Amino acid sequence: MTARMRARRYARLLPALLVALTVATPSAQTKITLEKNSYSVADDVRVGQEAAAEAKKQLPMLDNDQVGKFVESVGTRLVAAIPDELRHAGFHYTFDVVNQKEINAFALPGGPMFLNRGMIEAARTEAAMAGVMAHEISHVALRHGTAQATKGQKFQIGAVAGQILGAIVGGTAGSVISQGSQFGLGAYFLKYSREYERQADLMGAQIMARAGYDPREMANMFKTIQAEGGNSGPEWLSSHPDPGNRYEAIVQEASMLRVVGNGDSGQFESIKSRLAAMPPAYTAEQIAKGQTTTGPRTVATGVVKVEPPSSSYRTYQPSNFLRISVPANWNPVDASAGSVTYAPGGGFVQGDDGGSAFTHGVQVGVVQGGGGNLQQDTQQLLKSLSRSNPDLRAAGNARRETIGGRQGLTTPLSNVSQVTGEREYVALSTTQLRDGSLLNIIGVAPQSEAKTYENTFRRIRQSLQIAD
Ligand SMILES: [Zn+2]
Repeated sequence: MTARMRARRYARLLPALLVALTVATPSAQTKITLEKNSYSVADDVRVGQEAAAEAKKQLPMLDNDQVGKFVESVGTRLVAAIPDELRHAGFHYTFDVVNQKEINAFALPGGPMFLNRGMIEAARTEAAMAGVMAHEISHVALRHGTAQATKGQKFQIGAVAGQILGAIVGGTAGSVISQGSQFGLGAYFLKYSREYERQADLMGAQIMARAGYDPREMANMFKTIQAEGGNSGPEWLSSHPDPGNRYEAIVQEASMLRVVGNGDSGQFESIKSRLAAMPPAYTAEQIAKGQTTTGPRTVATGVVKVEPPSSSYRTYQPSNFLRISVPANWNPVDASAGSVTYAPGGGFVQGDDGGSAFTHGVQVGVVQGGGGNLQQDTQQLLKSLSRSNPDLRAAGNARRETIGGRQGLTTPLSNVSQVTGEREYVALSTTQLRDGSLLNIIGVAPQSEAKTYENTFRRIRQSLQIAD
């Protein structure tokens, strides 16, 4: 539910940005060929799948439908742009999001890619995120993992999954294990030489252009990683070292490429809002210590795990004529002209544009200038709410109810949350003030928790004291 009637919808925020991009002849793109590789394509597939299965066991995956589908759709678009000569039998590109804070991503031989939530959050645009993905895809398509192993010492192909994971888990934790793993086999698949980096940058740029993304956004993303990474940024950069003049080389390649169509889905801002609404991602340290499945941070769906409403209540005075009690674990989170929202931690999201939305909580507001008829004014308010919440529907009949000691109406509604994409339960209660304006209380909770919150909202309504 948008917290303010004027709040805009996140999904529609992103204008078509990539309209006119550089047009140049594609003939001059840098040619990149496969390196010598003594391993079979099937070896790539097997090693990658084993390591991927292990990664899914050891890393906290972000199990969120919308985010997952979005990343997959970007990945699919990029994969479709891999040149024919780099398509290998049995390669299967998959895209998983790890609920981890540090800006990192890795791709395993044969195609499995893991993208940290922190990487998506750090990206300023969809194309920037696609840039990291295109770079990783290029390492896979160019078979850099096994090519690098070919140059190094011989190893037993069957034993590498655990060692790759040692490099991933140890590496993300920045622990001693990662120092050791650089000499182990895992390092071959995850830490690339500068020459391979140069190739992945250029091939990544070419894939991006064919997929409809401006390749310069990859160069920008690398700058972001460097600038915003702080202590966590160098992890990606240490596995993907700067081959020298990285930014300039990518921009130079981009100038020779023609961007085909517009790959931007327009969904990036809404995906970022969604991520911002979730509890914080785990840190590498928490993951390394196995602290990802205990405590209140545990989330079954990857969406916000919000504490249930406390049974003790706290009273607020949002205006000089109004007193209201809400569960003690809720706080006033947003006060704007004519309304105030009380929500539990994780139940309220502030968008970049100043718009906001809440998934759990109540908003108390006053709408001026009604006609003085409770039913008609309530209908008018509903219409107005529907404009900013187009999925808002009646979910039963309005019933009369005493609110703040006077005649009121409570209307059960159903909506689709703009934060989670899930169905939500909305209870709209209205009553009139002496000056004819309409006092309204809007309770919002996920449909799956409607029973619990129905009682909470009733108790809040009953606590209302009006002295106008
Ligand atoms: Zn790389």
